[in-house]
Amino acid sequence: MKSRLIINGAGGRMGKRILALACEETDFSIVGAVEYPKHADLGKDAGIVAGLASLNLPLGNSLPEEAEVLIDFSLPEAADGIIKHCQHHGIALVMGTTGLSAAQKQRLAEAGETIAIVQATNMSLGMNLLFALVGKIARSLGQEYDIEIVEAHHRFKKDAPSGSALSLAEAICRETGRAYPDDLTHGRSGQEALRKQGEIGMHAVRAGDIVGQHTVLYSTLGESITLGHTAHNRDTFARGALRAAQWVCRQKPGLYSMQDVLGLAL
Ligand code: NAD
Repeated sequence: MKSRLIINGAGGRMGKRILALACEETDFSIVGAVEYPKHADLGKDAGIVAGLASLNLPLGNSLPEEAEVLIDFSLPEAADGIIKHCQHHGIALVMGTTGLSAAQKQRLAEAGETIAIVQATNMSLGMNLLFALVGKIARSLGQEYDIEIVEAHHRFKKDAPSGSALSLAEAICRETGRAYPDDLTHGRSGQEALRKQGEIGMHAVRAGDIVGQHTVLYSTLGESITLGHTAHNRDTFARGALRAAQWVCRQKPGLYSMQDVLGLAL
């Protein structure tokens, strides 16, 4: 049986690709394509907005109450309402929006007591493999290796550094005993910018239409190792979000990661 799917942020860059790819899959029937009340395309057919044929489904402003799963790629401002709606109506949630506050992450964890939730700052397989590896490599290399994380995204991205760059740093902190986020240094400038032992340097590049690039540099006197990931287009995240949506519908309440979805226990 098809799972009824709501897409929140359906008129956005990610939302449109999730909608388009969900239409290709047989696992879902899309029951809601939801947007911010002031979105320019509100009321238009969601399929047409996404560059497809008509779906006879308008881009709407209210969240349907009957659905198995909701995928959210919108803004942090929408997150509290989305979490409440899913809890109230027993709808599983895939939270892809980045830049959530600590309080919102806590709310997600609490909601995980009653509904199944997948939250990930990056839904691609390759990036999740990187999340699983970066901390282990840092631990093997030891304190003599300086670590810098450089990310590049399109000029429209609001939050910085990217949620994925923070997840990489968090994974390294977890494995190496560094304090997250206290041991992160964001950019460097000025006369007193000497690198501190053990800090993780974070650098955000914003330019053009770059979909997403992340590089983790481990460097010591004599050598460097670089691990990197490049997203060629948004479909890698959209496919991951749909895979998470299929998976989360079958899970018991809990807050899960993409590594749970992909079975990446390294
Ligand atoms: P976007 O700005 O193109 O789209 C966001 C959409 O959400 C917009 O159409 C906006 O009108 C809508 N929106 C804003 N507030 C809303 C509300 N209250 N209710 C409903 N819709 C609302 O941005 P995007 O590039 O599609 O990215 C969206 C989010 O997803 C960002 O936080 C981004 O960092 C994140 N992202 C996550 C991943 C991942 O794999 N987890 C990948 C790419 C992007």
